[in-house]
Amino acid sequence: MATPLSASRMVSALRAEGLRPVEYRSWRTHNRNHKGAWGPVNGIVVHHTAGRNSLNLCYNGTSSLPGPLCHAHLAKDGTLSLISNGRANHAGSFAANAFNAMLNESDNHPRPDSAEPIDANARTYGIEIENLGNGRDPYPAVQYDAAVRWAAAICRAHGWSADSVIGHKEGTRRKIDPTFSMDKFRANVAARLSGQGGAAPDVSAPAPDSKPNPPKVSGHPARYQVTINGQRYGYGAYGPHVTAVGRALVSAGFGRHYKSGPGPKWTDADTKNYADYQRSLGYSGSDADGVPGATSLGKLLKRSGVRTVSVAKLVSAAKSNPPMSGTPVTYSGVRTVEAALSAAGFLASGRVDGHFGSDTVRAYAKWQRKLGYRGRDADGIPGHSSLSVLAARYGFKVSA
Ligand SMILES: [Zn+2]
Repeated sequence: MATPLSASRMVSALRAEGLRPVEYRSWRTHNRNHKGAWGPVNGIVVHHTAGRNSLNLCYNGTSSLPGPLCHAHLAKDGTLSLISNGRANHAGSFAANAFNAMLNESDNHPRPDSAEPIDANARTYGIEIENLGNGRDPYPAVQYDAAVRWAAAICRAHGWSADSVIGHKEGTRRKIDPTFSMDKFRANVAARLSGQGGAAPDVSAPAPDSKPNPPKVSGHPARYQVTINGQRYGYGAYGPHVTAVGRALVSAGFGRHYKSGPGPKWTDADTKNYADYQRSLGYSGSDADGVPGATSLGKLLKRSGVRTVSVAKLVSAAKSNPPMSGTPVTYSGVRTVEAALSAAGFLASGRVDGHFGSDTVRAYAKWQRKLGYRGRDADGIPGHSSLSVLAARYGFKVSA
């Protein structure tokens, strides 16, 4: 979902994450959209202000760098002020390798190249965290926690993972902000996204400093995630690949803990069933804690068969289906792709019908644009590369 959030959606997403955003001055119409593009958005950039009393400066900017200078300003006491809704002068240009790592939600955020062809002000949200940036000025817990919540709120609203969040210093060699570890910050955002915090809108959530971490509850199955082949597994992980694991467990005979059928969200029932399966392979201890390892997962999916989608058959369906009346299913792989587009936020779940109609063409075009394709390369007819990225993220394979 690469369309920027509206001002109202931004406010409700932040409130759902337990924040109390201050709507500063005319932030809803304050932007630099007259100077360049705003959207599609692909990520989130974290900054420090390198100064004090920076709220007004962030709104107005300077004669050489006109405001707004960010989307949100975060004071030392955790007060989050909304500064802009639209293009803002916060990120400047980014290196393509750094930008693509963020766009593709790679676990690895490489050192940015020196060439910077990307207009990051068009493609990212930015927060300015008030801090002197000298490495000695602390980030109070209440401030840091609010920054994590701000980033998690936007990730959640767009269906992004924490790897859509980078520091300014990770997008360009010109900058050093923020002074804290971005790997740790992303881990904190991921914990919020997978934990209890903010999963559902909760306008009566406690103040930001009262619940810095999900409470530790003893007696439940393992609740951590692993990344295997670029996909997350374990408690809180989400996507069609999670459903695929659940279905494979059931078909292998390890489904006794499900109260309802396996679904796209990894729950304790998935963990318990997976642990049963690991024990059947002879694993014990932490190797049988119900969080997948690459070996057991590979065996399970091989046993059940990961779906392979043919590009040629998909293209033929995409070209022939739209004018057809009703919802004839000409190729069963269409449903797999639709489920992935739906999970990515581009297709309403009610339109996952196996028919590659005009809704699906539009949804696929959005996916292509998210990857940076333009013009005829973003016409909604699948190609091998765009489909391969989708397949890697949502757990299917691609053949010619
Ligand atoms: Zn910065």
